[in-house]
Amino acid sequence: MIVVGAGPTGLTAALALRAAGLPATVLEAEPADRARPGSRALFVHNRTLRLIAGLNPELAEEIAQRAVVWPTRETYYRGRLVYSRSYPPHSGGLPPFASLRQVETERLLLTACERAGVRFEWGTGVTTVSTGPEAVTLETGDGRRWTSGYVVAADGARSAVRRSLGVQLHGPRPRGFHVVVDLAEDSNRPMPPRRIFRYEHPALDGRTVLQVPFAGGWQIDLQCRDTDAPATFDSVEAARRWLPAVVPERYRDRILWVARYQFHQVVADRFTDEHHRVLLAGEAAHLFPPFGARGMNSGMADAVAAAEAIAAADADPTAVPRYAARRHAAACYNRDAAGAALRHLRPGRAMRIRQRCCATLAPVVPALGRWLETAPYGPRQGPSTESKY
Ligand SMILES: Cc1cc2nc3c(=O)[nH]c(=O)nc-3n(C[C@H](O)[C@H](O)[C@H](O)COP(=O)(O)OP(=O)(O)OC[C@H]3O[C@@H](n4cnc5c(N)ncnc54)[C@H](O)[C@@H]3O)c2cc1C
Repeated sequence: MIVVGAGPTGLTAALALRAAGLPATVLEAEPADRARPGSRALFVHNRTLRLIAGLNPELAEEIAQRAVVWPTRETYYRGRLVYSRSYPPHSGGLPPFASLRQVETERLLLTACERAGVRFEWGTGVTTVSTGPEAVTLETGDGRRWTSGYVVAADGARSAVRRSLGVQLHGPRPRGFHVVVDLAEDSNRPMPPRRIFRYEHPALDGRTVLQVPFAGGWQIDLQCRDTDAPATFDSVEAARRWLPAVVPERYRDRILWVARYQFHQVVADRFTDEHHRVLLAGEAAHLFPPFGARGMNSGMADAVAAAEAIAAADADPTAVPRYAARRHAAACYNRDAAGAALRHLRPGRAMRIRQRCCATLAPVVPALGRWLETAPYGPRQGPSTESKY
């Protein structure tokens, strides 16, 4: 079987195909020695760890061991603490979540794939796809042709496979952006691992900012206004100017990566082709704002479901259509949930008033502080990842 793309979705799909006893070849456009950018998806949900454990228990353990599980969450409103909670250290079994840079998660997945016998073709970008009732044919930029019974298309947001199939993405692409900065931890004087959310931070002229620890550093996520000029915030020089409002001065010179990110909330109109031979997965099929950590996590859930569907498909012709319907529904759920989170992060007038009232009353009604803490991530529940496709 062929998987297109060696991001977290494609690597998980390849591992899941091998776990199902099927051969797996990954076609990846970039070279083997590529440098992947920045932290991106940090947060691996417990249910994703459990999915990975179902394929390879040692891999799930290793991801958990290399990650940070922060014990404390704090929320501030205009500089005033409105919520704080600390948890006892995690013991036994998989942790409730794991925070590590996506590049590290990918590195561990890649090693597990290689050990499981996945074949990799680096520098092999897919250009066109044609499907028939029996197989899929792919052409790659180097002029080669590839045939496979089924293909998992995990080639990311600009998916060539999706475009070749004529599949469209639908949903809002609102204006606005946020800026993500990675900082290396200062190992001489590390900050305590707390996840800190600051609504309307006074030192940033009322912009909201999120501070998330990962193994070896911090991700700082600044919500910019629609009227903000990107250049004021989204370069290393610009970040050096505004970062001291959030973290101690010494972190100014510890910037690893700065990126600007938009809030697309789009889902492919279908997750398979007319012959049910190509299965779209991950960002090839959907793009969400990152709040609630639904991007990479849902891509990995797609990947496992896709491999299960392929393993069943020859005996059960409904397997791939069921995959397509179930993961499309999951993507719509995630898109809407991430959209709900976005309404808290980029509030209109009514939401802003509600947040202000809750912050005022939080000292006497702790549930309101808890709401301010949890709302920016959207609903806690997600669509089932334990699906039969
Ligand atoms: C700033 C930022 C912050 C984020 N934060 C979070 C977060 O906190 N939580 C979260 O869950 N998600 C987050 N995300 C999203 C997360 O990074 C993505 O959801 C994830 O990378 C998607 O994985 P993927 O494998 O589907 O796609 P990708 O990671 O894009 O991988 C696609 C792969 O396909 C390859 N490829 C592309 N075209 C071709 C082709 N034609 N042929 C062959 N190969 C091809 C690419 O080179 C790449 O290796 C964030 C993203 C960004 C940018």
